[in-house]
Amino acid sequence: MTSSAKPVLVGIDLGTTYSLVALMRADGPVVLPNALSEVLTPSAVSVADDGSILVGAAAKARATTHPTRTALAFKRDMGLDRVYDLGLRKFSPQELSSFVLAALKRDAEAALGRAVTEAVITVPAYFGDAQRQATKDAGAIAGLKVERIINEPTAAALAYGLQHRGRNLRAVVLDLGGGTFDVTVLRIEGGVIEIEGSAGDARLGGEDFDDALAGVIASRVQAERQADVRSDPRAWARVREACERAKRRLSEAPEAPVVLLELPVGRGRTNDVELMVRREEAEDAWAPVLDRVRQPISRALRDANVRTEQIEEVLLVGGSTRMPCVVRLASQIFGRLPSRQLPPDEAIALGAAVQAALKADDAAVEDVVVTDVAPFTLGTSTLSVFAGHRIAGTFAPIIERGTTIPCSRAESFVTAGDDQERIEIDVYQGEHAACEKNTKLGSYLVEGIPKGPARSQSIEVRFTYDLNGLLEVETTVAATGAKKALLLERTPGRLMPDEIARAREAMSRLKFHPREALPNATALERAEALYVDLRGSVRSELGALIAAFRAVLNAQDAAEVDAVRERLVRFVQRAR
Ligand code: AMP
Repeated sequence: MTSSAKPVLVGIDLGTTYSLVALMRADGPVVLPNALSEVLTPSAVSVADDGSILVGAAAKARATTHPTRTALAFKRDMGLDRVYDLGLRKFSPQELSSFVLAALKRDAEAALGRAVTEAVITVPAYFGDAQRQATKDAGAIAGLKVERIINEPTAAALAYGLQHRGRNLRAVVLDLGGGTFDVTVLRIEGGVIEIEGSAGDARLGGEDFDDALAGVIASRVQAERQADVRSDPRAWARVREACERAKRRLSEAPEAPVVLLELPVGRGRTNDVELMVRREEAEDAWAPVLDRVRQPISRALRDANVRTEQIEEVLLVGGSTRMPCVVRLASQIFGRLPSRQLPPDEAIALGAAVQAALKADDAAVEDVVVTDVAPFTLGTSTLSVFAGHRIAGTFAPIIERGTTIPCSRAESFVTAGDDQERIEIDVYQGEHAACEKNTKLGSYLVEGIPKGPARSQSIEVRFTYDLNGLLEVETTVAATGAKKALLLERTPGRLMPDEIARAREAMSRLKFHPREALPNATALERAEALYVDLRGSVRSELGALIAAFRAVLNAQDAAEVDAVRERLVRFVQRAR
């Protein structure tokens, strides 16, 4: 690997289901392939029997064969104190994400032949402070300097805006992915891409459609055979995976098969499930999920102060916008057919690469300027008086959502008691009037206030939302002029610098499956996962191929390995 004076700054879409890495070239952004020559790397981590760690497609394939050893969708838990127990090892969501980032880093390095040490990483717009910080921490653990955290919809808008620079138009980007939904209203004027409003739902995405469809299958199996497919976590994981496949099929066809052979259905029994699901039946089950899609759209438009008829283009990104019912909903709301000018799976990574180029002062984007908005409100807790009652815990917004970032706002507080030398300020993020319904980011302690009677001393608290959507707080004691940049107290899930160093250390001691061996491991894991689903002669044939592949792997005959792997991969593709 050759070194270069200028570090390579890549854009990374760290998705709930898939992640991608992209880079700006002179003629536009491109996504980079992984070790399997694929551009989508599943955001999946699995611990193999020998304790080694698998990341990506091989790990994803193990979700059905080794569900307790495999972690998926951990992005949903970023910033929470959750521990994933994968049998031999336990990991935090940050660590699991860092494994995915490290895999993308290695893949980008292999594709470029240069060290990759810096990145722009995308997060859902409504990710709060803790989740953004956790994403930065994950980057640091993976050995990446995170130059900027940007909102996913902003990234998609950037990729789109770059294509249309020079035009004047207003657009809305609907990004429905595997686990999250984001809406962004943007305006392009010349080279300026202005984000006017954004809203989202952190727990709404393709997986909710999978769950709803799995519910239909479970009810049908229950009604027809009195068998409970929810009784065993392994069985349920298989049902959900089959439903994900059926859902994709239903995007193209009016009906789709769900085949699950020898499915454990409780009390030691197994059952062969072979059903057809019709699109209408699935769409009935999806209606409540679709209803949830409407809400963030209304909120984003309201925040941007824009009516649906002022939207000149509706852009779809994210895998779940391939669903006909989602396209129909978008057409109904905006009264126009949505377009898909960007590859839905790649738009965010491409936009992250554009942002990386902006950060690196790349000539390819010299005429582009981007402005973004604060995705949620930040404020403090105050006492309010209503009809003579003192009500504690009322939310006092300081920076309202929708404010263009970076932004800075200050608020003054006065001492409540005589000779009060310290004041504690609770900071919340959210949109509810009552603080308890918002997310508490932490408490800030201001000390060294000169003594004096109650209400005689004033303290200015300045909130600054930086370009990463992270909060900085500075206080000034009016009497002394003493300024202090305050750090948030430890909040759950947030790592301190020494913990990041320890996590990096721990990561360097872990055994990762070698990159060069991933095509073999992936082929094998995918074949093993399929084997569970098959029956009869096809199953025996697959079993024989798996055994042959294991044998040539053990013999380490490179040419034979490649030949048998290709046969296995083709077989799996045909039989799935
Ligand atoms: P993303 O996070 O944007 O990669 O989106 C992944 C989600 O898109 C997953 O829930 C997939 O099941 C879903 N998805 C991908 N392709 C399709 C398709 N053809 N039809 C329906 N859903 C899809």
